[in-house]
Amino acid sequence: MTTHDSRSQIKWVSQNNRLVPYEDAKISVMAPGLTFAALVFEGFRSYWKSDIKDLLIFRMADHLKRLEFSMTLLELDDPPSPEAFADDIVATLKANEFREDTYVRLQVYVDDWGSMTATGPLGSTVICRPRPRVADFELGQKFIVSSWRRNAENASPPRIKASGNYLNSRLAGLEAKRQGVGGAVLLNDDGTVSEGPGGCLFLMRDGTFITSDVTSGILESITRGTILEMAGPLGIAMEERSVGRTELYLAEEALYCGTGQEIVPILAFDGRPVGHGTPGPVTRKLQARFDDIVRGKTGEHEGWLTRVYNG
Ligand code: PMP
Repeated sequence: MTTHDSRSQIKWVSQNNRLVPYEDAKISVMAPGLTFAALVFEGFRSYWKSDIKDLLIFRMADHLKRLEFSMTLLELDDPPSPEAFADDIVATLKANEFREDTYVRLQVYVDDWGSMTATGPLGSTVICRPRPRVADFELGQKFIVSSWRRNAENASPPRIKASGNYLNSRLAGLEAKRQGVGGAVLLNDDGTVSEGPGGCLFLMRDGTFITSDVTSGILESITRGTILEMAGPLGIAMEERSVGRTELYLAEEALYCGTGQEIVPILAFDGRPVGHGTPGPVTRKLQARFDDIVRGKTGEHEGWLTRVYNG
């Protein structure tokens, strides 16, 4: 779970709707966004399509909608509109002249000086950086079941993309790292499966891919939604429901999905191989279809793709 370090390639970021050199973007050391987790964010990819020489931003409107939901829950004052963000994102990608697969991170936070319940003044950033596909897309990853429990809906709601939730993710991620594996499964207090530290899970039983439903302590993942939507035409059965821990150990195939990972095959849970311990054939089919969609090769789902240079 390392982050590809592409700092040196970032020339411009947008802060408070203004392009500034990356080194000049600042947050106050007293910002409630820093100390009290008054910060929400989004992350999504844009894909370089070489035949039309354009970057295609994947499902930007859906990510901006989720950001609005997160901002509402944190009761932030006068949050930037999705339209303002959309313009900013395109401008930032263009300013950097990226011509490769890119990752976009949006952050909205309470800046300056304030208490734990401060709701402004807000700061916002758009940071775009080159981000190639993870090697585990091909190779797969082994997972453990973390000893940490998922933060509860009525404590620190996982449904929003707030920095505070990532303490829980970090603890599970560190545990996986210590055990020498790539990923962790977080269980809810009742023993059902929620998700991983930064992505959602699908596991196959009797030929049907099952994924924890949206009331199972998960982020409403856009990649998860994409997989559910593209499965129908591929003839792959899908089910959203509560998933028990033991079902992990019975899975014929399993995968981990999210913007960063896209779709990563899961090879084992707690040292028990999933299927034959190699990426499953249906997982491979989903990966191929996903790649076609995000790179605009299918001619379908055009509404999911925003062109940066020739929009
Ligand atoms: N769950 C968590 C906790 C995440 O951080 C992410 C990454 N955003 C996901 C799921 C996957 O969400 P998405 O597919 O929208 O990136």
